[in-house]
Amino acid sequence: MKVLIVEDEDSIAEPLARGLEREGFQVVRVATGGEALRAAEPDVVLLDLRLPDMDGFDVCRELRARSRVPVIMVTAKGEELDRVLGLELGADDYIVKPFGFRELVARIRAVTRRASARPDDRGPLLAGALSIDVRARRARLGERELELTLKEFDLLALLASDPGTVFSRQRILEAVWDTHWYGHTKTIDVHVAALRRKLGDPRWIETVRGVGFRLVEPA
Ligand code: CA
Repeated sequence: MKVLIVEDEDSIAEPLARGLEREGFQVVRVATGGEALRAAEPDVVLLDLRLPDMDGFDVCRELRARSRVPVIMVTAKGEELDRVLGLELGADDYIVKPFGFRELVARIRAVTRRASARPDDRGPLLAGALSIDVRARRARLGERELELTLKEFDLLALLASDPGTVFSRQRILEAVWDTHWYGHTKTIDVHVAALRRKLGDPRWIETVRGVGFRLVEPA
């Protein structure tokens, strides 16, 4: 997942970028609003409100005018009114400086999860012969419609949102079960087993030991 950090203060941007990279994010850093608007579209934007060349609000407005990329506004303490305005301009969330790194990562995952669950006109998720229509909540393998439970569908849609990419158990729990509680981790295995059975080939969902799972079309 690509994160665009728009922040002019190196003392904030630098450790943030390194931390996010350690979490497995691809990070692009820019220091001005102009650069942010010229950058290739990421999966999520962390947007500082006070930028040297333009207001974070204007950047947000322009981003929103042309894309649905999730935007998290980064504000300083006491900018309460600003936060409200930011959300009205279409920011998906805000976080107040100084913020905890874990909290930020949780926010990033939450907004990107909401964005990918948002019904839109991107069409079905495709992975080889597998086609998942998130809006209609239908999954087909070739011509065969898959009969999936609610959670099986959510899990398959999550994995199919980025085929070939490993999804950690933690991320799956957060996205599908909305929990951080590790007691649920066996639940994932049960659902993965059911999906493999319904897909008719266990190789569709590959276990990456100690990490998580990824969707791969069997060769
Ligand atoms: Ca700033």
